[in-house]
Amino acid sequence: MKDILTAPWLVELVRTCSNMYVHGWDERNGGNISLLLDESELTDYLDPDRVLRTIPTGFAAPELDGKYFLVTGTGKYFKNVQYDPAANLGLIRLVDGGRTAELLWGYSDGGRFTSELPAHMMSHAVRLAVDPASRVILHCHPNNLLAMTYVHDLDERAFTRTLWQMETECVFVFPEGVNVLPWQVCGTNEIGEATAEKMRTARLVVWAQHGIYGAGRDLDETFGLIETAEKAAEVYLKIAHLPWKQTLTDENLREIARHFGVTPRAGWLD
Ligand SMILES: [Zn+2]
Repeated sequence: MKDILTAPWLVELVRTCSNMYVHGWDERNGGNISLLLDESELTDYLDPDRVLRTIPTGFAAPELDGKYFLVTGTGKYFKNVQYDPAANLGLIRLVDGGRTAELLWGYSDGGRFTSELPAHMMSHAVRLAVDPASRVILHCHPNNLLAMTYVHDLDERAFTRTLWQMETECVFVFPEGVNVLPWQVCGTNEIGEATAEKMRTARLVVWAQHGIYGAGRDLDETFGLIETAEKAAEVYLKIAHLPWKQTLTDENLREIARHFGVTPRAGWLD
C-alpha cells in the first residue's frame, strides 16, 4: 500500500483547507469540505474492507449508498489540517441507505465528520442528479458575501444581478446565479434539505448571516466559484455607499454570455 498522505486527492484537499484559511474564510472551526471519491482512487492506499468504526449519520441518503467521501472533521480548524490530516479529516463510506458512515481512515483522535454532513450529503445527491461529474461540496464564511447578506436585498435574482454587475467574469463563471437561503439554525437535517433544494438550480447557495455553499466537479472549480462571487461582493461593498457613474448593463451581460457561450438564468436579465 502507498502512503495515503501522498494521495493526490488528499494532498489537494489539505492545500484547499490551508488556502481557504489564508483567505480568511474559515475562522476557528468554520467551514467544511466533502469530496466524493471513486473506489478505484482509494485502493492503492487502503483496504476498503477494513472498517475502523461505524458512525450513525442521523439521516437517510439512499442515492449515496456505497459512496466514498473525504470529509473534514467536526470542531476541527482548517488552519491545522495541514499539520495533522489524519486527525482533522476522515474517509467514510455511506452504507445502510446513508444512515451509517463506515470510517476507513482518519478522525484519528476519536472524532467524527462535520456537523454539516446532512447539508453536504443531501447537496451531493442533488448535484449528482443534475451533473453526474459533480464531486465537491464546500462551505465557508467569506467576509464580503457574509457582510452583503446584512445590507442587500436577499431576493435571489436581485442578489445575483448585483454580483453579475460587479465584475465582467461573474456571469460567465456562475451564469445560473446564486440562490439564497434565509437564516436558519445550522447543523440540522432541515437546513440540509433546504440547502439541497436550492442546489437544484445553482452551484452557489448563500446562507444569509452565515456564509456560502459551493458545489463543483473538483476542488479548483468549486473554490474558484466562491472566490469569484466573494470578489464581486467585495467590489459591491466598496462602492455600495458611493454614487455610481456606470455599471454593467443587462445588454453588456448578454454580450459577455454570448461571447463565452453561456446561458444566464432565465428571466434574471431584463
Ligand atoms: Zn458555517
